[in-house]
Amino acid sequence: MLYPKKYEAIVIGGGHAGCEAAHALARMGRETLLLTMNIDTIGHMSCNPAIGGVAKGHLAKEVDALGGVMGGVTDASAIQYRRLNTRKGPAVRSSRAQCDMRVYRREMQQLMMNTENLDIKQGSVDDLELERGADGELRVVGVITKLGVKFRAEAVVITAGTFLRGLCHVGLKNFSAGRAGDKASVGLAETLAELNLEMGRLKTGTTPRLDARTIDWASLEAQPGDNPPRRFSFYYEPEMLEQVPCYITYTNTATHDIIRANTDRSPMFTGVIEGIGARYCPSIEDKVTRFADKDRHQIFLEPQGLTTTEVYPSGLSTSLPMDVQIQILRTIPGLENAEIMRAGYAVEYDYVNPIQLHHTLELRMVSGLYLAGQINGTSGYEEAAAQGLVAGINAALKLRGEDPFVLGRHEAYIGVLIDDLVTSGVDEPYRMFTSRAEHRLILREDNADWRLSEHGRRLGLIPDHHWDKFLAKKAQIESLREVLVQTMVGASNHNKALCEEHGLGSLSNGVTMEELVRRPENNISDVKPLFDELAPGFDLGGVSAEVLEAVEIQIKYDGYIKRQERLIEKQREMEEKLIPDAIDYEAIGGLSTEVRQRLGRVRPRTIGQASRIHGVTPAAISALLVHLRVA
Ligand code: FAD
Repeated sequence: MLYPKKYEAIVIGGGHAGCEAAHALARMGRETLLLTMNIDTIGHMSCNPAIGGVAKGHLAKEVDALGGVMGGVTDASAIQYRRLNTRKGPAVRSSRAQCDMRVYRREMQQLMMNTENLDIKQGSVDDLELERGADGELRVVGVITKLGVKFRAEAVVITAGTFLRGLCHVGLKNFSAGRAGDKASVGLAETLAELNLEMGRLKTGTTPRLDARTIDWASLEAQPGDNPPRRFSFYYEPEMLEQVPCYITYTNTATHDIIRANTDRSPMFTGVIEGIGARYCPSIEDKVTRFADKDRHQIFLEPQGLTTTEVYPSGLSTSLPMDVQIQILRTIPGLENAEIMRAGYAVEYDYVNPIQLHHTLELRMVSGLYLAGQINGTSGYEEAAAQGLVAGINAALKLRGEDPFVLGRHEAYIGVLIDDLVTSGVDEPYRMFTSRAEHRLILREDNADWRLSEHGRRLGLIPDHHWDKFLAKKAQIESLREVLVQTMVGASNHNKALCEEHGLGSLSNGVTMEELVRRPENNISDVKPLFDELAPGFDLGGVSAEVLEAVEIQIKYDGYIKRQERLIEKQREMEEKLIPDAIDYEAIGGLSTEVRQRLGRVRPRTIGQASRIHGVTPAAISALLVHLRVA
């Protein structure tokens, strides 16, 4: 059956990537359909109930700054906020919010259901409708569901997560599923395979979920959240839920002995699982094997919500058999009597190597077909959301006949993420780290709105009231900086005494307030007491902690930031030098066969990107530049 309504865009999947893609498309005025296997699981957190963390927090803030939905939904459902690395440099300070999973899902569903231009339908997509145009170009024109319903659209974004030929493992038992409780997506996986795409198999895992009523909380170390908590979103201000603590416990040698004694029943160690897992997010059996000298591993007990007894023991991901999972718990302080509500498991799934994508996340091989999220070999909600947003924006721009939206590596972690995916491809699950960004002092969490809000506004993703909020914050940052630069603290006896009284150091000559803040031993809060006397006209009371932090970082790291900006400027020419889509690498003299193959596989967009391809030498870049100059 051909569905009577014609959409401009279809998004397959209601996970983190799917919601961002659908929301962006609809907000940008495209008639969009979100088609997902189960409407009730829109916004579901498949694994841990938390958004953010080191580098992931940066991504989530950038998604929010651009006008995405993740930040606002996180704030509406957060039950514990923690800023990480607060004693380290500003580049690595990150936010993390523990969420109530049910509230997160509910809020996301409400938001999606109330988005103009967006229809939501339940259906499992089995096949894609493709057409070859007169120009020979293969393009997508619609999708077909399991029930045989055809939906037409010129743009399709696939965000199938871990569902493509998903196979779940608990011990040596396995079953077909996209994740526990959901069917696998087999037809769609076959359709993609028929396109002869380069695909592979990855795996991820999750912990057993425990019953809070059976945990001995009194014996455990509590980990409270930040007080006061700091919201995630730059724009949304939903009412905050009750904040609750997490708890900490540890495995021990008895736990490790049980794990070692049962490796022959582990699907990972017996070769039952073929997919490649993430090195940085290992299961407990992985950790015990790889870090054999460690006699304990930390476990955070994270409540999954305020109205459920389910607890997520972070750090205890396992696919060992159920009886072993129970034995493991018996050895861990506080969990000796813990009951498992859902077993831990691993899931293997197909992914598409993202080296076959443009920076817009459109498949090079099929016009109008975009892939975003875990299907591209990434792991994590934030990586998925970032890609969903970029795919949605670019699908909307293409439908409008406008230029693509590509963020540079110097502009955003989102730019780093996508450039890494399309330049280097993926052969193991990819997650974001701050070390992946070469300009991380510029790509901070605190300035994500400063870096990206204007893009979001231009694209039509930021409504007036959010934009006004951003402008007000920007004005506050500028005027605070200005007042600090302009206000002299003369070396009078009175000022000397004032500085001494507030621990601001000695004052042999007059300095500006900005210079006082720049002193390593001071921070911006230390100069607050000087405002009454020296800058009485400035309303410091109305300045938020975020603004104070932003200005302090600008002042203290000014020299480093300027140095990075100069470096970016130097690299700009290479990053902006476009390579024509139709370039024939065979026709370029001076390139080795290997370099030709590497360039042909990635088909870089710019000279800058070409220079990042593994094995492409500076000599090859020179030959390419000469060719482009002559051509
Ligand atoms: P998903 O959230 O998986 O959403 C996919 C969506 O596509 C679903 O709505 C599904 O119904 C829909 N769908 C699939 N096929 C079809 C179809 N044919 N037709 C219609 N709809 C379809 N991340 C971490 O960062 N750390 C971890 O430790 C971690 N562990 C994980 C453990 C497990 C067991 C799982 C399942 C995931 C884990 N994750 C982890 C990953 C995290 O959940 C994902 O990275 C994130 O949810 C991916 O988002 P997504 O939008 O790409 O896909």
